[in-house]
Amino acid sequence: STGDSDRMTPRLESVEERESNMWPRQNSLSLKEWDIPFDDLNIGTMIGRGRFGRVFRGNWHGDVAVKILNPDFLHDEHAIEAFKLEVAIFKNTRHENLVLFMGACMKPPRLAIVTSMCKGNTLYTHIHLRRDKFNLNKTTLIAQQIAQGMGYLHRRGIVHRDLKSKNIFLENEKVIITDFGLFSVTKLVYDCDTGLGIPFGWLCYLAPELIRNLKPDRPKNEDLPFTKASDAYAFGSIWYELLCGEFPFKSQPPEAVIWQVGRGMKQSLANLQASRDVKDILMMCWSFQADDRPDFNQLFTTLERLPKKRLARSPSHPIQLSRSAESVF
Ligand code: ATP
Ligand code: MG
Repeated sequence: STGDSDRMTPRLESVEERESNMWPRQNSLSLKEWDIPFDDLNIGTMIGRGRFGRVFRGNWHGDVAVKILNPDFLHDEHAIEAFKLEVAIFKNTRHENLVLFMGACMKPPRLAIVTSMCKGNTLYTHIHLRRDKFNLNKTTLIAQQIAQGMGYLHRRGIVHRDLKSKNIFLENEKVIITDFGLFSVTKLVYDCDTGLGIPFGWLCYLAPELIRNLKPDRPKNEDLPFTKASDAYAFGSIWYELLCGEFPFKSQPPEAVIWQVGRGMKQSLANLQASRDVKDILMMCWSFQADDRPDFNQLFTTLERLPKKRLARSPSHPIQLSRSAESVF
């Protein structure tokens, strides 16, 4: 049986080695146990629509979230293979700061991903819609949990590729990261609304090396060179959102952001009233050279060492950010 062959796997290899060696042979077998027949799901109301499909409340042995992929996606056989590859990756993720993968509907034309239902709101909703203010202690605790979940993903060789405040839920005090690895599948159905295929609120998470690879004539932006370091860049932008309550480069047109970030300019921090340690984290994550960015273990340690005190920021006066790209500090 599948279980037996799994158990016979040598345990001395690293996780990454094992996955890369094992999966082509094991894939079809070990995926079966994660396959959920679409008809077994009780689909409820729609929660929302994203770039690559729709998310529904559902019931499958309890409350679940069902992400039904856009049917356009099915025209491409590679896309279905890519989807199964993602499923093979998800099934090996277990961490308290990652959404729980429960299974997938893998039989075209119904491709769906079933995860636990996240309670609470996304960081995006907290920060940008409800305009909630978090003090520095809470901000740091949130960032530390993101760093832990991301450190775990990277340890397993998984690059998130779409780390952003919309993909992070806050359940009471607990951070839950969603949608890891999905971008590589969904890029294939990427439906661009602007000439460059850049939806609002995405650009500020893209590291310079990604920005420089955006091509107007390649609207689906396949093959963007996402790496662990580009995830670290995105984390920097989330840290900024948490601190400032705004997106970096807020209200600048995409062309201006592309021009600046591609040349190594950063959002000015002149009006962010925070300690040097807090700003250093932003600057490290936003390093132009990918190699200069910290990994998530380093980030966790740095965050842990931040002095526990309140962020000096007046809630009634949103920070006016300098438009000058040159004035980094
Ligand atoms: P984008 O299209 O830019 O990726 P998004 O992340 O909001 O934005 P989806 O991931 O498709 O798009 O999510 C659609 C909606 O479903 C959002 O409101 C999201 O918060 C919600 N959602 C997604 N996954 C879950 C989950 N596991 N539990 C609860 N709600 C979820
Ligand atoms: Mg999402």
